Amino acid sequence: MDIIVLRPEATAKERRNIVKRLNKMGFDAHVSKGTERTVIGVIGDTSKVSEDESRSFESLSGVEKVHRITEPYRLASRNFQGKGSLIKIGKNVIGGKRIHVMAGPCSVENRANLISIAADVKKAGATFLRGGAFKPRTSPYSFQGLGEEGLEILSEASRMTGLPVVTEIMDPRDIGVILKHVDVIQIGARNMQNFRLLQEVGSYGKPVLLKRGLSATIKELLMAAEYIMAQGNEKVMLCERGIRTFETATRNTLDLSAVPVIKRLSHLPVIIDPSHAVGKWELVSPMAKAAVAAGADGLMIEVHSHPEEALSDGEQSLKPAKFKALMKELKAVAKAVGREI
Ligand code: PEP
Ligand code: MN
Repeated sequence: MDIIVLRPEATAKERRNIVKRLNKMGFDAHVSKGTERTVIGVIGDTSKVSEDESRSFESLSGVEKVHRITEPYRLASRNFQGKGSLIKIGKNVIGGKRIHVMAGPCSVENRANLISIAADVKKAGATFLRGGAFKPRTSPYSFQGLGEEGLEILSEASRMTGLPVVTEIMDPRDIGVILKHVDVIQIGARNMQNFRLLQEVGSYGKPVLLKRGLSATIKELLMAAEYIMAQGNEKVMLCERGIRTFETATRNTLDLSAVPVIKRLSHLPVIIDPSHAVGKWELVSPMAKAAVAAGADGLMIEVHSHPEEALSDGEQSLKPAKFKALMKELKAVAKAVGREI
């Protein structure tokens, strides 16, 4: 609500009322009278003014339009912190020169399978192990994940390989057991606007990977990050994983422009998940390379040793050999854009 445009017929009394209201909120007003209409510039830090408060000015008599210049998110904003955030997780730093690859199966299915995949992705150069224990499935009859047992398996694979673990939380009631076993808490696309869940993970110091909702705008993603950060947890990574469009050739449409757009608006690291974006394993490699070229700080890629037998997302999972080949290609792309993998 940084600029308030008055109606041409606005009276001096209406104008004074608006200024009075601004003053009451602690702001100064700069009134600029043009030949056609008057504009009021709001002076002061308006970043904490809520969207509702800002919009409420539009219902005051004499007001035609309110323009907001400051973003409604503050802690996540690039204006708040000019330098890109560096998020330390164990010995890894996300947001620096090195691009991190988080790889593993969609779901933890059993111990032997996860441990074998973890060893394969580690050997190929992944720096994080991903795997879901609590799965947000569209159908209640689909495999829902192993729950706590899955977390224990992830934890064991992490100890064996040295890879930190990323896993999804769906319910605030699981926070205790998740904190015990994992290094990065993932908020899935379907829960991006589950505000109680965001606040819950925000009240612990554990790094968070926040996925963009299926139909969420970048601004909504940044507002969701703000929920976590407002609780005191600033270790947030933003993940673009494809959005819903009219296109049906791919599972979702990967919005790669989100990388440079978010980089301009926010200081938070950006991770690209090409697997959930395209939904087909053949398309994962080209989009992963494009993501690195576009400036992503990391990738999340689903890998499975027997995708045809996977309990979820097999069709978009790379076999370990394909993943290994991709990692080699990614090194060259990273080098070309001044990064490393
Ligand atoms: C996942 O990472 O397995 C997952 C369910 O992702 P998304 O929330 O992006 O669909
Ligand atoms: Mn998946």
